[in-house]
Amino acid sequence: MSRYDSSHPITQPDHQARKRFGQNFLHDPHIIRKIVEAIGAKPGQHLLEIGPGQGALTIPLVNSGARIDVVELDRDLAAWLVNHFADCERFTLHPGDVLKFDPHTLTQQERSLRVIGNLPYNISTPCLFHLLESEALIDDMTFMLQKEVVQRLAATPEDEAYGRLSVMVQYFCEVHHLFDVPPGAFKPAPKVTSAIVRLRPHRHLEHKADDTDLLRDLVRTAFSQRRKTLRNCIKPLISEFDPAQLPVDLNLRPENLGVADYVRLSNAIGVLRADISVPTQE
Ligand code: SAM
Repeated sequence: MSRYDSSHPITQPDHQARKRFGQNFLHDPHIIRKIVEAIGAKPGQHLLEIGPGQGALTIPLVNSGARIDVVELDRDLAAWLVNHFADCERFTLHPGDVLKFDPHTLTQQERSLRVIGNLPYNISTPCLFHLLESEALIDDMTFMLQKEVVQRLAATPEDEAYGRLSVMVQYFCEVHHLFDVPPGAFKPAPKVTSAIVRLRPHRHLEHKADDTDLLRDLVRTAFSQRRKTLRNCIKPLISEFDPAQLPVDLNLRPENLGVADYVRLSNAIGVLRADISVPTQE
C-alpha cells in the first residue's frame, strides 16, 4: 500500500511554530474546507503552494487530484512533507525561499499555474511582487493575507487604503476579496484578522504601460508623499518637461489617480524622455 493514503488521519509533525518564518498554522477544519472549496482544484490542474507548513491545505489539495509543487523554507517541515508525501507522484517539494524560486522552472506554458498560499506575513508584499514577475504563467492566485493588506490590494482611488500596492497589483490582476478569517483559525493565533483574496491576471490589458519599470518607479515616487500634490511628489521624474505636456492634472494628489491615469502619465513621461534624448538635426 502507498505510504500516502488520504484516508488515514493526518499526523502533524512535532513542531514548534517559528515566528521568524511567519508560522501561523491553520487548524480550523471549517475554515480549511472553505478555503479549499474557494480554490476548487480539479484533477489535471497544476498548483504551486507557497509555504505548505504542516500540510493543512496541501493534503486536501493533493486529494483533489491536482498536481502540486510546493516551496517551503523551514527545513524541518520540508523533511516532514517529503516523508509524508513519499509515494505521491503528484507532489513535489522545492526546499528554499520563495523569493528565490523561479516559476519558469515548473512550466513555460502561459496561464497554466494556479498559485495558492497562506503566506508568511513578513514577506507577503515582496512575495506578491516576485510572483507578478511571472504573471504570464499564472492562471490565478488565492492567498491568505492580513485583512489590512487585502484591503490595500482591493482599494480604489480616494480610499484611505489606496496606494502603491493597489495600483501595481490592479495593473496586473483583477482583485477579489473573498472572505475574512478570524485569528482563532490559526495556531498560534495572530493578533489581527486575515482574509482570503483571489488575484486573476488580466487576459488583456486595456491600458498597457510601455515600460513597466517606469510605471513602478512613478507609482512608488508618487505615493512616497501621498499628502502632497503630484507636481511636488513626482518632481524628480518630470523636472525636464513642461507640465502642460503631461496628460493629468498635476494639482491632484496621488490618491486621486486611477490605474489608467498612472499608465497614461508613465507612457507620456516615457515619450517625452525619448524626445529629449534624441539629438536634434541641424
Ligand atoms: N500553509 C500552512 C497553513 O496554512 O497552515 C502554513 C502557513 S504559515 C502562515 C507560512 C508558511 O510559509 C510556513 O510553513 C513557513 O515555514 C513558510 N515560509 C516562511 N517564509 C518562507 C519563504 N521565504 N519561502 C517559502 N516558505 C516560507
